[in-house]
Amino acid sequence: MLDPFLMLDEFSSNDPNYYFAGFPAHPHRGFETVTFAFNGKVEHGDNHGNHGVIESGDIQWMTAGSGILHKEFHEKEWAKTDRIFHMIQLWVNLPKKDKMTQPKYQALSKDQITHFVDEKSGAKIILYAGELLNHKGSANTFSPMNIYKVNLDKHSQLELTEANGFNTGFLVIEGEVKINDEQSAKKGDFVLLKNDDLSFLLEAQETSEIFVLSGQSLNEPIVASGPFVMSSEEEIQQAYIDYQSGLFGSFDF
Ligand code: MN
Repeated sequence: MLDPFLMLDEFSSNDPNYYFAGFPAHPHRGFETVTFAFNGKVEHGDNHGNHGVIESGDIQWMTAGSGILHKEFHEKEWAKTDRIFHMIQLWVNLPKKDKMTQPKYQALSKDQITHFVDEKSGAKIILYAGELLNHKGSANTFSPMNIYKVNLDKHSQLELTEANGFNTGFLVIEGEVKINDEQSAKKGDFVLLKNDDLSFLLEAQETSEIFVLSGQSLNEPIVASGPFVMSSEEEIQQAYIDYQSGLFGSFDF
């Protein structure tokens, strides 16, 4: 329903016992994983030689493409303290023609990411990818999409317009917003907008934060199995064969 976005996982906790385990080495093929560290630190590494820590405000955009092994952990020092760890991981589908592209990686630190204030509404906007209100996002994408986070003061209004043919939805991270003077959505709700209205009006009932996904539909078959997202059953079988025969590379990283 939100093609080209496959999955959104929001995580927020101040209990290290709950999140400390992380995700040991595992494969991906055929899509992109995008990690947004809102608060806290994520340590990661992959078998293509990338290793680092994503800090609060940073994102990591990993194109798994033809295949990669990576691991993701909560950073140890942060986990010792009683601080909120808050992140989102988003899975973005790749167009069929790009599913076997060379794996790559965009590490965007907070100061490389577009931040601006919309003067009319006072909304504070972080634009990760795409275009919005005459600003451009920093991440490169394989298909047209806009990904952004909006902070609204209580009672402020913001009208947003998305391109024709884009699927749009948003997660309410904090607060409560009214959409098009009709329904309200509050913290934890995901709002899927109808494709027929290109513009939508948000009114913050409380001080609010929303995370918006909007993208041009790929309109291609999606066959997903575990860590692989391909376009056909045959491609999925091939992914398992390639993985089991070691073509994804070394586990030693
Ligand atoms: Mn992963």
